[in-house]
Amino acid sequence: MDRELLKQASRIVVKLGTGILTDDRNHPDVAQIEQIVLQITALRKKGKEVVVVTSGAVGAGMGVLKLGKKPSQLARMQACAAIGQSRLMTVYERLFSKNGLHVGQVLLSHEDLEDQDRHLKARNTLLALLDHGIIPIINENDAVSVTELKFGDNDRLSALVACLLPADLLILLTSVEGLIQNFDQPNSHRIAEVARIDRQILEIAKNTSSPTAVGGMGSKIDAAKIAMRSGIPMVIASGRRKRTLSDIIRAKDIGTLFIPNAKKLAGKKRWIAFFHHPFGSLLVDDGAQEILRQGGKSLLHPGIMECRGDFNSGDVVRICDEDGTEFARGISRKSSSEIRNREKTLKVIVHCNHMVIL
Ligand code: GLU
Repeated sequence: MDRELLKQASRIVVKLGTGILTDDRNHPDVAQIEQIVLQITALRKKGKEVVVVTSGAVGAGMGVLKLGKKPSQLARMQACAAIGQSRLMTVYERLFSKNGLHVGQVLLSHEDLEDQDRHLKARNTLLALLDHGIIPIINENDAVSVTELKFGDNDRLSALVACLLPADLLILLTSVEGLIQNFDQPNSHRIAEVARIDRQILEIAKNTSSPTAVGGMGSKIDAAKIAMRSGIPMVIASGRRKRTLSDIIRAKDIGTLFIPNAKKLAGKKRWIAFFHHPFGSLLVDDGAQEILRQGGKSLLHPGIMECRGDFNSGDVVRICDEDGTEFARGISRKSSSEIRNREKTLKVIVHCNHMVIL
């Protein structure tokens, strides 16, 4: 893929990190938010649809309560999120309406997107907002989301939102210029493009740090994996520069572009691959793994060496190699107890139409 294709993106998800939304006293940095609002308004004027994924709620809540650090008690942290979220929305609504635009708040929990029916309904709401010319502003529903079942960080959430819509482009605005090799050293330089996430990229990400990031570069790489596999280009760039968004869609060489797979994943497959916390794993032998990786082949009972966890038929399960490393995900036609108890017949356990090689 070539950067030129970014010019054609018409639906764009923009994720705004805490570091570019709040100042060092944890108050919304209104001047900074305003310059981003102006950039988004400019995209809208070009006819682009923009969905914002915002962070900064917990940070802004800490500012109101004058807390120097994040509370360790879950309920207190959730209270900060509730306070800060409304504070942030007030700022967004005021700044966007100055530019003739309106916003709609959508707070998501993992369960909203895991269940297929709710997943499609959430998608319809977002599409209806876009249809009305509204800027949807999304955050995790931190005030009530439970720790283990959370999206975790907004990098991941923004990739999932891009998958849900789907979007043509995902932009993560942060306080660094992108993925930086030799971060903080005299010979540092920005990586312009990433075609494959390998060990070297993971190492560079580990060392590119931003003091305010919740998930750091690591979580941005996890987001990139989701976007790339789904066929959606992703760019990490600095939210402090004045023309970042327009430069990206004019295909200028800024930030780090993660080049997507040429083949886009269909909606149902995106839902299978990225929206679940699976309860179980099927460990398959090398032969089965090889066949499944070729694509278009279903997982049959004899290929399964071990079935881990408890799940019902119709649940999404991990499909793993002999060592337990996941390489695919799919919907199991049988429950874990049926798989464990059954005679080894050539029955399809995961049909290829309901399986994604990751
Ligand atoms: N949802 C969190 C908040 O609004 C931020 C999580 C993140 O930035 O990754 O404070």
